[in-house]
Amino acid sequence: MKSQKITMGSNGRLDVPDYPIIPFIEGDGIGPDVWSASKAVLDAAVEKCYGGKRKIEWIEMLAGEKAFNKTGEWLPKETLATATEYIVSIKGPLTTPVGGGIRSLNVALRQTLDLYVCLRPVHWFHGVPSPVKHPEDVDMVIFRENTEDIYAGIEFNYDDPKAKKLFEFLKEIGGADKVRFPETSSFGIKPVSKEGSQRLIRAAIKYAIEHRRPSVTLVHKGNIMKFTEGGFKNWGYELAQAEFGDSVYTWEQWEQTKKQEGEEAANAAMKKAQLSGKIIVKDVIADNFLQQILLAPKDYSVVATLNLNGDYISDALAAAVGGIGIAPGANINYLTGHAVFEATHGTAPRFANTDTMNPSSLLLSGVMMLEYMGWNEAANCILDALKTTIMRKRVTIDFYNLMHDATLLKTSEFAQEIIKNMGTGVILEKGE
Ligand code: NAD
Repeated sequence: MKSQKITMGSNGRLDVPDYPIIPFIEGDGIGPDVWSASKAVLDAAVEKCYGGKRKIEWIEMLAGEKAFNKTGEWLPKETLATATEYIVSIKGPLTTPVGGGIRSLNVALRQTLDLYVCLRPVHWFHGVPSPVKHPEDVDMVIFRENTEDIYAGIEFNYDDPKAKKLFEFLKEIGGADKVRFPETSSFGIKPVSKEGSQRLIRAAIKYAIEHRRPSVTLVHKGNIMKFTEGGFKNWGYELAQAEFGDSVYTWEQWEQTKKQEGEEAANAAMKKAQLSGKIIVKDVIADNFLQQILLAPKDYSVVATLNLNGDYISDALAAAVGGIGIAPGANINYLTGHAVFEATHGTAPRFANTDTMNPSSLLLSGVMMLEYMGWNEAANCILDALKTTIMRKRVTIDFYNLMHDATLLKTSEFAQEIIKNMGTGVILEKGE
């Protein structure tokens, strides 16, 4: 059968053929090692689950050092066109070019495809070494806004005449007196919009409803940045009530009931809502949230937050469940369907071509991709086999160094071990 493109249906759902064409970027540094391991596992799972009735045809897109060496461009136009045309793609880590016109290849991809959600599921796999006492309590899905905030790149260095111009403008509109050292101040601008915030929070609430998650937490710093971060929170509550009123119960509703009928009545109303399966929409200030993920991670499920907060929170949570070697990610536009699944770690150039690094981050991003395509059998097959492999302590160097009595495997051997464990269900070793 002929391979076909994935398309976006008029009903807003992806149309995934049985033989889809999926572009990949293998990535720089350790990229080729972790990509070839991940690809082998993804292909094996699809073959195991669908026996030839489904198969992915991979096509390569050039980006990063490989692209630069071949074409003189870090991110060829053709790559952006291919990612746009084929809707769903996957990538390994890319070197961030130093100097030159492109700030970051990842950011360029996200902006071109308007991938407004950075999706990071964080949960612990039994046996993975972790620095916290109860990593099993961490089971969160982070929706990080991907297109706005201080990351928009509107920044002026102190010696740039534009910074002086901006300062002069502040004198006109107010705020200049708050700049402590005008001569040596650089400036960054933080755009946060209602549309940008609401499309992200909408995606988070929809996800919580579809995956039967108990809560959505809006994480913000609105106590200090009232209009940007505070706006995010207010627009979030507004949207939750207006668009999902029947499916959610918000802390704002709780506050209102408390004011009108007292705290006991408010608590009872919230309990009732929870028991009837409603999703609790709440908010937490970002610094407190970073405490809470260590103190009470069980209280949080789906998290929606702005770009910079999301950056910090994703890494802190990834560390709690075993580090960046195993944390997957995706950048998604739920409206157009465009999605780029990616390893969350960098290129670790010192370890390039050593066949030693952990491919789990990219592999689990591939699992997210299979789920996004609706190929859940293959996704679950990989998850079970990965769990078995880790529980048997047959792991790559990062986990090996932190485990007792483990067997050290190369990247490629780890992939073969996962393939070998497919279809056996999750197996616990004696005494585990
Ligand atoms: P890095 O993630 O590449 O490496 C930091 C350390 O983390 C490594 O030395 C290694 O000890 C460990 N590590 C990373 N990946 C691992 C894996 N799969 N298994 C086991 N251990 C792993 O971060 P860096 O050194 O700050 O960045 C190197 C380059 O990667 C830079 O050019 C940076 O811009 C780029 N980068 C790219 C992405 C991306 O493409 N998404 C993300 C982060 C950094």
